[in-house]
Amino acid sequence: YVAKAKGAVFVGYHPDMDQIAAEEARLAADLRQAIERQQLHLLYQPVVELPTGRTVRVEALMRWRHPTEGMVPPDRFIAIAERSGTIDTLGEWALREVCRQIISWRTVDRVDVEVNVNVSARQLRSPGFPDLVTSILAEYGVAPSSITLEITETAVFDGGPAVESLRTLRGLGFRVALDDFGTGHSSLSLLTTCPVDVIKVDKSFVAGIGGHGQQAVIVTALIQITAGLNLHAVAEGVETADQASRLHALGYRFAQGYYFDRPLPADDVVSRFRVAAL
Ligand code: C2E
Ligand code: MG
Ligand code: MG
Ligand code: MG
Repeated sequence: YVAKAKGAVFVGYHPDMDQIAAEEARLAADLRQAIERQQLHLLYQPVVELPTGRTVRVEALMRWRHPTEGMVPPDRFIAIAERSGTIDTLGEWALREVCRQIISWRTVDRVDVEVNVNVSARQLRSPGFPDLVTSILAEYGVAPSSITLEITETAVFDGGPAVESLRTLRGLGFRVALDDFGTGHSSLSLLTTCPVDVIKVDKSFVAGIGGHGQQAVIVTALIQITAGLNLHAVAEGVETADQASRLHALGYRFAQGYYFDRPLPADDVVSRFRVAAL
């Protein structure tokens, strides 16, 4: 394919495989310096309780402002960081930043905020992960119960050390959420073998909830399964009032999405945790 693409008429318009690889190598190198150059920051998206509209926690989402490329979306740079090995450093940075922010919210703004942190498969598989996470929290004085670790099915579907690490972390008081549920190596038996507390139903299912198609059927079935297994369910990617009320009617208690809030700077989160004075 590479040879063919090189000879193709569209060279110069469509990047060929070599160009894509070179671009990735360049971004991977830039990413290695992104922390010290202060190009990374976190935004926080509220998770809302449907019956009350109250914000119950937030999810930390990483942003990379590249000096010449502008904002690089995480779906792109997290994948590059995973392939190039930088994800361990980025993940550690994110956890420290979350801890620092929790303490700042607590001491400066007088609000207690619980935070979901995304953990990549590679981080979870690294043998020292539970120790690392535990020592970072201890360093900042943050309790494990303030943190939910969001992992994907892909990280745990084959069992092994990743699942052992989760068991350890959960034993220490961390909550565990299965992110993007239904899009990875899904097997319902994961819900019984993997130590999890929360299922985040992927936005692709929520998007179709208004129709009579398969997505609506799956969203309906998942709330029954999670309730039966004593798991919490969070619906992701809620963009409309109609989706929110349908989810509520189906029995979903928690949701997240642009309809409620976009990912916000840390300062903007504070008001969500203050009850309005009447
Ligand atoms: P995710 O963990 O599933 O996060 C939810 C994504 O959905 C976020 O995209 C969020 O901005 C987006 N979103 C929220 N509400 C809506 C909505 O109503 N509609 C739509 N269409 N999208 C919505 P974002 O911030 O671009 O992050 C993408 C993915 O990158 C995340 O998916 C997560 O897998 C990964 N990621 C982000 N930050 C980190 C991080 O610190 N560490 C790791 N390992 N992965 C991260
Ligand atoms: Mg997530
Ligand atoms: Mg998700
Ligand atoms: Mg996702």
